[in-house]
Amino acid sequence: MKNISSIDFRNDFVNGFNGDESGNITPRQTPGVFYSRAVPTVVKDVTLIAWSDELAKELEIQRPINQADIDILGGKMVTPSMRPYAACYAGHQFGNWAGQLGDGRAITLGELQTSTGKVWELQLKGAGRTAYSRNADGRAVLRSSLREYLMSEAMHYLRVPTTRALSLVSTGERVMRDMFYNGNAAYEPGAIVMRVAPSFLRFGNFEMPAARSEINNLRKLIDWTIERYYPHINGDNKILAWFTEVVERTASLMVEWLRVGFVHGVMNTDNMSILGLTIDYGPYSFVDDYDPNFTPNTTDLPGRRYAFGRQAAVAKWNLACLAGAIAPIVEDNDKLIASLESYDDFYWSRYNTMMANKLGLDAVSEKDMKFVEQFEKVLSVIKPDMTIFYQLLIDLPGEIENEQAVIEHFEESFYETPSDGEVEKLFDLMKTYSERIQSNTISRKESIKRMRENNPRFVLRNYLLHQAIEDVEKGDNTLFVKLQEAIKEPYSVKFDQFYAKRPSWAAEKAGCSMLSCSS
Ligand code: AMP
Ligand code: MG
Repeated sequence: MKNISSIDFRNDFVNGFNGDESGNITPRQTPGVFYSRAVPTVVKDVTLIAWSDELAKELEIQRPINQADIDILGGKMVTPSMRPYAACYAGHQFGNWAGQLGDGRAITLGELQTSTGKVWELQLKGAGRTAYSRNADGRAVLRSSLREYLMSEAMHYLRVPTTRALSLVSTGERVMRDMFYNGNAAYEPGAIVMRVAPSFLRFGNFEMPAARSEINNLRKLIDWTIERYYPHINGDNKILAWFTEVVERTASLMVEWLRVGFVHGVMNTDNMSILGLTIDYGPYSFVDDYDPNFTPNTTDLPGRRYAFGRQAAVAKWNLACLAGAIAPIVEDNDKLIASLESYDDFYWSRYNTMMANKLGLDAVSEKDMKFVEQFEKVLSVIKPDMTIFYQLLIDLPGEIENEQAVIEHFEESFYETPSDGEVEKLFDLMKTYSERIQSNTISRKESIKRMRENNPRFVLRNYLLHQAIEDVEKGDNTLFVKLQEAIKEPYSVKFDQFYAKRPSWAAEKAGCSMLSCSS
């Protein structure tokens, strides 16, 4: 096991592509290049707040044992094998072309190769200004860093594809933020997350050279991406085959978000991973009450473009942007469109499998699809707590006597008492469900096993994060430490102390239900 300071980093991206090597961090357009070199800005005092032992084991590195190692996690020290850079990318934000964006506060230190041959990109988020910081400070606050650290790890344990987080440090410096965008800016503690992924490439990295008509650069980036991250793809039609796989991975990711009730909140094309990972944790949330219209992002109002129930459609829209970007180097554009259109079939097939698992069915047949649709409709009317409702569903008795019995069974999940009409709907739904369970071709035992494996019992709710952040800011890590453990066992009863719906005080409270992008 190595110390972080003794890693011999690879720098394949920097070595493979043109970059602006000047180190100049004056905000500017950087045509023709894939990155601009950027050294992390030295901060005052780096203190380790959290370290992910399991990820470190996978990376074959030791928990920091001295201040030099900790300083690396805060960008205060850079080792000789690192060639830090900020990537240049563009994006569509809230449906509009936003031009060049780039890593404004993320700096990649280098790539780490483990003994198994796996390569990981190590990146600091909040490490200071880069050529892409525009008029912002390149920093991140503790509040948002703690959220990214915990949630990206939580998603990993939920088995949802995601970037990871190795460490969280405080910088000993204060960062000015106007959290509510209401003119009341205040200082908050600064922090840095070291995040880790095979690659942080986004759709926007491909949109950038395309928008600049840098066709050779675009082709080079695609070839590199395929060779490195999609090595099983080759032959004459490799670009189409690659795009189709990006379509499939993205569709799968949307289904996984639905499964666990995750709402990303800022699905701009610069926040869409080319590997189909959940990336860039900002004003995200789990749905508490089941509401397809729920968006956690205050900037997403009133349009609710990124609402829970719209994520699958938006992902396809984003894929269309990617298709548009790569179109100049795809010979047969009809095939490219067909590949984009394959999204729907693939999505629905994955969705049906996912719903079968959530509901404990052998499969979702053509006939069952109507039932599933009805199921989601009833849920979106009654709006029970999603996580708790599905847990209670696992224990639903085979025979449901009457409406009262249904009400009592699901009581714990209700935020509001359902009306008589709603109760009737739920009762009918559960009767159909029980009958359908009877005709399962899998055993009841297998059915329950599938439900337990696919319905999380613990999800990292925003109000819990909010409480943990308030405590940590006051110097009390107790809840944060507990949450770090709880995220590792989302499907077990072990952390049932958190098995409760969102408390009423948190319903409208900023940071507990809705968040701003200010981070
Ligand atoms: P996001 O909405 O967080 O994905 O960010 C969109 C763009 O704004 C990206 O180019 C970020 O790097 C940049 N950005 C966000 N916050 C900051 C910050 N505090 N300093 C510099 N750039 C930032
Ligand atoms: Mg982003």
